[in-house]
Amino acid sequence: MVSGPGGVGKGTVVRQLVDRDPGLWLSRSWTTRPRRPGEDADAYVFADRAQFEAERDRGGFLEWAEFLGNLYGTPRPQAPEGRDVLLEIDVQGAAQVRGLDADALLVFLLAPSGDELARRLQSRGDPPERIAERLAAARDEEAVAKSLGAEVVVNDDLDATVDSLLQLIDARRARSGR
Ligand code: 5GP
Repeated sequence: MVSGPGGVGKGTVVRQLVDRDPGLWLSRSWTTRPRRPGEDADAYVFADRAQFEAERDRGGFLEWAEFLGNLYGTPRPQAPEGRDVLLEIDVQGAAQVRGLDADALLVFLLAPSGDELARRLQSRGDPPERIAERLAAARDEEAVAKSLGAEVVVNDDLDATVDSLLQLIDARRARSGR
């Protein structure tokens, strides 16, 4: 599982992880958040609240959470046999998945600084009123992630970050005999 504040670069990191490690399978979440300008159409399954709630009520999600007024959920993973599921998830969702699988690896990505995070949020087009909210959420999320025993990685240089995560994943596989 990869968690971290909005704007820290989780999306880029998880895409590189699946490109570099064929043993990983990336789950695509559902969200009721509107698609951002320029965001890939397949970044999420974009749904309205009624569709999301219908899917949730029929038990279609492994976990779901509300984050800043929008719903996000992980469909029950349909990973091909033998692949490890990679989730990009908020810390509330990570806590739920931990409840299902105590061994699940959680990595929390940090931006090099609060200023840098604000700059990244602005440059991806988040509305100004959402930026302060996201910065406050980031501080709370870091505290929860640490309480869940997350591995904290500062995403300064992308290649170095991806290398660190691949090492953590391999170490966890070795520990569980895979
Ligand atoms: P964003 O709006 O920036 O794409 O995502 C907001 C937050 O929701 C991020 O922390 C992201 O990791 C998290 N998120 C994305 N997909 C899921 C999911 O399926 N479940 C949960 N619990 N959080 C998710």
